[in-house]
Amino acid sequence: MKIFKTLKSFQNFRKTLDLHTIGFVPTMGALHKGHLSLIKKSKAKCTFSIVSIFVNPAQFSPSEDFKKYPRLLNMDIKELKKINIDALFLPNKDIMFPKTFSFNIRGNEITKCYEGKARPYFFDGVTTIITKLFNIIQPTHAFFGCKDIQQLIIIEKLVEDLNYNIKILSGKTIRNKLGVALSSRNQYLSDAQLIEASKIYQSLKDVKKIIDSGSVDIQYLKNYLTKRLKKIKSSKVEYVSIAKQSNLKEIPDVIQKPAILSVAVWIKNTRLIDNIIIK
Ligand code: AMP
Repeated sequence: MKIFKTLKSFQNFRKTLDLHTIGFVPTMGALHKGHLSLIKKSKAKCTFSIVSIFVNPAQFSPSEDFKKYPRLLNMDIKELKKINIDALFLPNKDIMFPKTFSFNIRGNEITKCYEGKARPYFFDGVTTIITKLFNIIQPTHAFFGCKDIQQLIIIEKLVEDLNYNIKILSGKTIRNKLGVALSSRNQYLSDAQLIEASKIYQSLKDVKKIIDSGSVDIQYLKNYLTKRLKKIKSSKVEYVSIAKQSNLKEIPDVIQKPAILSVAVWIKNTRLIDNIIIK
């Protein structure tokens, strides 16, 4: 596995890859099976696969966990070598955001709802860093997880609107055996809290069952889901949404499919998001 820490070294190397299909998996590290499933997809689809690890300061607000976000670089490198990834791009903050940095990529309303509403800095940071990484890596394919469904839909829109010739492919949410969506932030949870966290996906699945059995009233479904989530120990429900998959607009009265049922829930000091797609 080649590791690139500077722009110049990566760009020189990139010139030698023109005959390849290049799969790209951007990450913030602390790699788990969710990341690895995307990397495996890239390896299966493309002749050359590149992973980036960069904990992007631009997507954290001052009150968020940038400083304590898990950084496990040695373990990550070991994992990536084990699955034989071709290259790792490992820039630092001075490379990605030098003091003279002046531009941001901003989205429209698709970046202002749900996660964007709760975390006002978040998607400008994500779209800016992904734009920069796409320009540097110049992949033919890029892989994103359904776990962060709003991010996936925003990146698809970014690629369309900014005319990137990159195919965006998604990977399903990988969960632990209790059903908790794997996340680097799960490390903040105790075993007892992980059991509580598993009730988030259980509640989403139960609402899906209710919809599948013919229930259509959005307000009823949202109230039911909110009540279930509120019963989770030490939980605070940040949002419950049932939105159209195509544009993430909230569905007003009766369910329309395909829909995305998504939630953000705090368990004590840890913020968890999850979703389920209703086809
Ligand atoms: P992150 O390191 O959190 O920025 O995530 C990097 C990529 O991994 C994003 O495309 C995420 O959606 C994806 N990802 C994170 N957790 C999971 C998971 N549990 N299952 C599948 N993909 C995931």
